[in-house]
Amino acid sequence: MPIINRIADFHEEIRTWRRDIHAHPETAFEEDRTSEIVAAKLGEWGIEVHRGLAKTGVVGVLRGNGDGGRAIGLRADMDALDIHELNDFSHRSRNEGKMHACGHDGHTAMLLGAAKYLAETRNFDGTVCFIFQPAEENEGGGRVMVEEGLFQRFPVEAVFGLHNMPGLPLGEIAMRSGPAMAAFDIFEITVTGKGTHAAMPHHGTDPVAVAAEIVGALQTISSRRVDPLDPVVVSVTQIHAGDTWNVIPQEAVLRGTARSFSKETRDQVESDIERIVDGITAAHGASAKMTYERRYPALVNTGEETELAARVAAQVVSEDKVTPEWPPLMGSEDFAYMLEAKPGCYIWLGNGAEGEAGGCMVHNPHYDFNDEAAVIGASYWAKLVETALPRSA
Ligand SMILES: [Zn+2]
Ligand SMILES: [Zn+2]
Repeated sequence: MPIINRIADFHEEIRTWRRDIHAHPETAFEEDRTSEIVAAKLGEWGIEVHRGLAKTGVVGVLRGNGDGGRAIGLRADMDALDIHELNDFSHRSRNEGKMHACGHDGHTAMLLGAAKYLAETRNFDGTVCFIFQPAEENEGGGRVMVEEGLFQRFPVEAVFGLHNMPGLPLGEIAMRSGPAMAAFDIFEITVTGKGTHAAMPHHGTDPVAVAAEIVGALQTISSRRVDPLDPVVVSVTQIHAGDTWNVIPQEAVLRGTARSFSKETRDQVESDIERIVDGITAAHGASAKMTYERRYPALVNTGEETELAARVAAQVVSEDKVTPEWPPLMGSEDFAYMLEAKPGCYIWLGNGAEGEAGGCMVHNPHYDFNDEAAVIGASYWAKLVETALPRSA
């Protein structure tokens, strides 16, 4: 595999960084130790270090050989999840209840590996910004960095991201041009009825029966309201009502998430949920209050940058190991905020086929980033910089 030999030389080192970060997971905006390590290493290699964006974010700026004014950004996320790790290997989490179950430990270590190589070789003409962001999982650290002026302070022409992908065999890379990951919204619906004795329901208004009808009816948004070729998911993930057997409660609370791709469909899903909730509660003489919060936008890769990413990936893993038209995912990613601001591409890096090492799905308590993928990811980053910012012959 034509990975970069110099990067393969420090595979062991990348693995050590990765396992150390894995053993010390930190969640949203509390990535103090991780960002300290990142900043120290970048500084050690002579890379200009900027800290404090989105609290624990770190940006490293490296200029190549040549006087070109062009610049690109490479982004890694650093945060872990609130999961109790069930692995028992020696690098398992030492922060009880927190776990690197999405491989952001690997993303951070791979980008560090590429930074070390690029600082040593500087075989590119222009500037590369290494963007280490906090809080990808829920709190939108990427959005906060953009809002705090990431691209004003570091004016790159394009920005690139990657995520490991269990299920995709080791040594494979996938991507797609256009919408690749869904927009992510959350909602909370409080149905208010009238509490009464469970044996005399006619004296009250049962919010549980109303809530149950809402759960079923919400499924008609994707099956009856939206074009079947336009993917939408509405999932009710929590139902809370009542405390005992013989009381019809006063209230029922539903919570869930909606996923969609286009802006129009996203608007439609929100208004459809609202209409269904209002209609069903009115039909039963109950009332409802809904809050609907838009979290991450859809992640949209731009054509030219996706074509570049596919070309570079083919150099690293060979063309037959690259899937340039991978189907879109209903999952979400806050790198979408950076892609709203700049052209760019986000790729998926094979972490291992199902049933093999690295095949365990992300967010599972048994997941672990596959260290064998690190050299491939770091080589991809390095070749991307050398290809996007070529030195003139
Ligand atoms: Zn995740
Ligand atoms: Zn992730």
